[in-house]
Amino acid sequence: MNRDTKIIHAGVEPDPSTGAIMTPIFQSSTFVQSAPNEHKGYDYSRAGNPTRTALEKAFAELENGKYGLAFSSGVAATDAVLRLLKPGDEVIAAKDMYGGTYRLFATLWADFGIKFIYVDTTDVANVEKALTPNTRMLWVETPTNPLMKITDIEAMAALSQKAGALLVVDNTFASPYLQNPLDLGADIVMHSATKYLGGHSDVIMGALMMNSQELRDKLYYIQKSSGAVPGPFDCFLVLRGIKTLHVRMQRHCENGRKVAQFLKAHPKVKNVYWCGFEDSPGYQIARKQMRDFGGMMSFELKDASIEAALKVLKGTKIIALAESLGGVESLINHPASMTHASVPREERLANGLSDSLMRLSIGIEDAEDLIADLQQAIG
Ligand SMILES: *Cc1c(COP(=O)(O)O)cnc(C)c1O
Repeated sequence: MNRDTKIIHAGVEPDPSTGAIMTPIFQSSTFVQSAPNEHKGYDYSRAGNPTRTALEKAFAELENGKYGLAFSSGVAATDAVLRLLKPGDEVIAAKDMYGGTYRLFATLWADFGIKFIYVDTTDVANVEKALTPNTRMLWVETPTNPLMKITDIEAMAALSQKAGALLVVDNTFASPYLQNPLDLGADIVMHSATKYLGGHSDVIMGALMMNSQELRDKLYYIQKSSGAVPGPFDCFLVLRGIKTLHVRMQRHCENGRKVAQFLKAHPKVKNVYWCGFEDSPGYQIARKQMRDFGGMMSFELKDASIEAALKVLKGTKIIALAESLGGVESLINHPASMTHASVPREERLANGLSDSLMRLSIGIEDAEDLIADLQQAIG
């Protein structure tokens, strides 16, 4: 079946009791039992809920995986993955990953004896050097947030297999429409479904996808025991969002390309970070593992002052200044003070994330309107 058809039908069957085409919102915490533990597959909604089941099936199908699990947020999904580890275990993680992932690793999990080693994963040799007999997990984000750096997933998978470690890929930025890490050898794919999967900036949700039943069983146990599950209405919203993932992504990519080219040609712009430029460092690998380049990018002005960046951040009229990404509307963001404020400044600068860097999530409006908006804001 073609991917576009699969996206429309993923996880959803007409409801057997009524024929409803769309999965109903089973807004119920508990389910009747005819005798103790005799029921129709559901007993309590933390352990399982039919709306969530449909969504979890859809998650699995989107990533060509066998299993999917839904969590109440992206970081809750990340947190569940870390619960697979024990004190003394080591995780090699990407340097410029999502600030909230860094915060969870560095300020919560590090206190429980998990050691995190941060390397530039765009060069696989750096990861190889950081391996020790205690390495249990490689955590990769590609493209990264916000510099759009690309890591070779296949090469990382080969390394993780050799080391006997799990490879986890945060696939939020690419979305399953552009990249499928399980097909490239990853063990677990993580998504902030808040972003492209939901797609309408109206829900917070996380997803995990995997092929190994053993991993699925462990993560399901963690999901129901630690309880960070999404409610049925939120599951419905993401199921609904997924149905238009392919048409939204096509437009995100088209608009992203136009805006990136506009910025690159602008005399006041110094750098544009977008993985679709042929001269961008990760281009060849991006072409190999992604179907297109998406609508995420960041840029810096030649005037590196914060004041110049603030003028743009406050000056756009269509493009709203807000955290998050992946919705139908375009957003602009200031990583240094917003999404990445929890990363210490020296570390941020060392990772190439300057004070004047601005990130764009290009939506599905008319591209010319977005370009005109940026033009008037940049001046
Ligand atoms: C937003 C985001 C997360 C965290 O997800 P939440 O749904 O906000 O908890 C993780 N990784 C990336 C790349 C993100 O953009």
